[in-house]
Amino acid sequence: MAGKTWRILAGLVCATALSGIAASDEVHWGYEGPGGPEHWGSLNPAFAACAGGTEQSPVDLTGATVSDLSSLTFDYAPSPITVVNNGHTIQVDYAPGSGLVLDGDRYELLQFHFHHGSEHTLDGVRSPLELHLVHRNVSGALAVVGVLFEAGSANEALTPLWSQLPAEAGPATSVAGEVDAAALLPERRTTWRYPGSLTTPPCTEGVSWIVMTEPVALSAEQIEAFGAIFANNARPAQPLNERVVRRDAEAQ
Ligand SMILES: [Zn+2]
Repeated sequence: MAGKTWRILAGLVCATALSGIAASDEVHWGYEGPGGPEHWGSLNPAFAACAGGTEQSPVDLTGATVSDLSSLTFDYAPSPITVVNNGHTIQVDYAPGSGLVLDGDRYELLQFHFHHGSEHTLDGVRSPLELHLVHRNVSGALAVVGVLFEAGSANEALTPLWSQLPAEAGPATSVAGEVDAAALLPERRTTWRYPGSLTTPPCTEGVSWIVMTEPVALSAEQIEAFGAIFANNARPAQPLNERVVRRDAEAQ
């Protein structure tokens, strides 16, 4: 159970280089105590990047450099809902056929999941919730889109999923209704971008991060519903080191 998310992602990132890490299934990484983020790097040799990596995620996005960013288009269609509580988050495995095109390169949308509170911060402040939409291109490279949520009106696009959030860890199940990832994006498609990593063990680097600059609303009740299941599943911000966070100009 404990290693499910990262094991799937690791398999996607580089099956050869990371083979043999199945043994770390016994490691119970989490968000507090001996398995907390500050210990991830020493829990298992396969998690070394969590401590020794120099391009880790999340980061604080303050002070981004306004840049002429490469083109980004979203091509999302609604998907049936296959949902899993994997012990670290609630994840929806997305139906094939949706994706994004980043600088001419297509990345297929594989799954999305949530962190409470947000992992990316602004001036050190977390948003209540962050959505991660995980994409992979044919070469196996990952691009993750982050959406920051703020308390406001109820988010209708989340209603079918939120009405059936699995409170306990268990296998993936199909639930009624559809979810449309496009409806989870903000209207304005301006972004922050930087090179980073998975935010969960094994913290693999080489991930293209795209965080939407405009937050999306959800209700206090919706935030509480997720928080009742995962009170804290957010990794703290990591050092930026030599990296530069770039941001679209305000004007579209
Ligand atoms: Zn995530």
